[in-house]
Amino acid sequence: MAVTPELVPLDSRYELAARCLVCGSEIAAGEGVSARYRGQALRFQCASCLARFELDPDRYLGGHESGCC
Ligand SMILES: [Zn+2]
Repeated sequence: MAVTPELVPLDSRYELAARCLVCGSEIAAGEGVSARYRGQALRFQCASCLARFELDPDRYLGGHESGCC
């Protein structure tokens, strides 16, 4: 899948615990998948959630979660 140019992968080792932007699952510090998008560091539970975000970024940035993988 083509990566959105604005979506820059981050190293999750340095990221804090957070909720997945796509599915709302809790992600432990240093785990999951992280990416920077328009200046914001975003956290995802897994690559599948990141892929869903790529398909429709505005939906998830607007607070609409969906189910997980
Ligand atoms: Zn998720």
